[in-house]
Amino acid sequence: MPATTFDVFRYQPDSSDTPYRQEFALDHSDKVTLLDALLQIQDEQDGSIAMRYSCRSAICGSCSCKANGRTVLACMAQVEEIKEADGSDTIQVDPIGNFAPVKDLIVDLDPFWEKFRSVKPYLIPDGKAPEKERIVSKEAMNKVYNESKCILCAACYSECNSLAADPDFVGPAALAWGYRFAGDERDGQRKQRAKLYSGEHGLWDCTRCMYCNERCPKGVEPRDAIEKLGGVAFREGVSWGDAGARHARAFLVSVRTGGKLNETLLVPFTNPVTAPLDAPFALQMIRKGKAPSPLPHRIKKLNEVKHLMKNVKEEV
Ligand code: SF4
Ligand code: SF4
Repeated sequence: MPATTFDVFRYQPDSSDTPYRQEFALDHSDKVTLLDALLQIQDEQDGSIAMRYSCRSAICGSCSCKANGRTVLACMAQVEEIKEADGSDTIQVDPIGNFAPVKDLIVDLDPFWEKFRSVKPYLIPDGKAPEKERIVSKEAMNKVYNESKCILCAACYSECNSLAADPDFVGPAALAWGYRFAGDERDGQRKQRAKLYSGEHGLWDCTRCMYCNERCPKGVEPRDAIEKLGGVAFREGVSWGDAGARHARAFLVSVRTGGKLNETLLVPFTNPVTAPLDAPFALQMIRKGKAPSPLPHRIKKLNEVKHLMKNVKEEV
């Protein structure tokens, strides 16, 4: 029978304001999930351990926590697999990141729900409601299928670098829900949504670290949804107000016209007002060969790049 030590984050504000860690040694079956192991500890060793869970089937999204620093759904994560991945018989268990702890593994999810509500996560169709129903094709629904799989477990928020830097960032799950409806052909608010999601703390604040894609237990790929929302913002003509949007557009123009990225041109396109202040520094970098020349340059096989970009555009 395998044995594991669980090094659990404890925070019991009723008795002390100071969090601490507590180790529990457990003999368990070789197919136990992290959630079942924690419940066994709660049952046999310490009934005061607080955690959220409900369905035990990766559907309710309640039991997300960190195992050895990586956010998982406790009901999906196999104890033996975690140990094997990290080469250790001890598993550190922590509450999810980027949220204030309330008690042990329970965190305050209010900011998460506020952000979720802020993106208007429901269909807002134009015109009069049909007598029976709005028919939509399978192909059209496939475009938002990934985003529809979200179970609101907040694992992506736990890993999000932008949220760590800016707690007001609307975040990956809410934006994935935004695309769920902005990408739905029955919705009549595409432009309004593009404006709503492109504002301060919105989609352009994502650092593209990809951790949300990596840790999402349901394959929602929220970073991809944010990418698609950026496309909606461009198509709806609401992408000039934000430096992130201008940066993305400058990137695109640079590759389309020259066949490669010209980093030197990104600065004036992204921040036209403050860019002159960076001119002496930029000139110094160019002189030392640390930055490409801002003069137009085209690669020989520019047509191949354009062809590639056209294919990608058609696929999206
Ligand atoms: S996008 Fe994935 S990780 Fe984020 S809340 Fe939804 S299911 Fe959880
Ligand atoms: S890719 Fe963007 S939204 Fe996803 S975790 Fe990184 S910063 Fe957050």
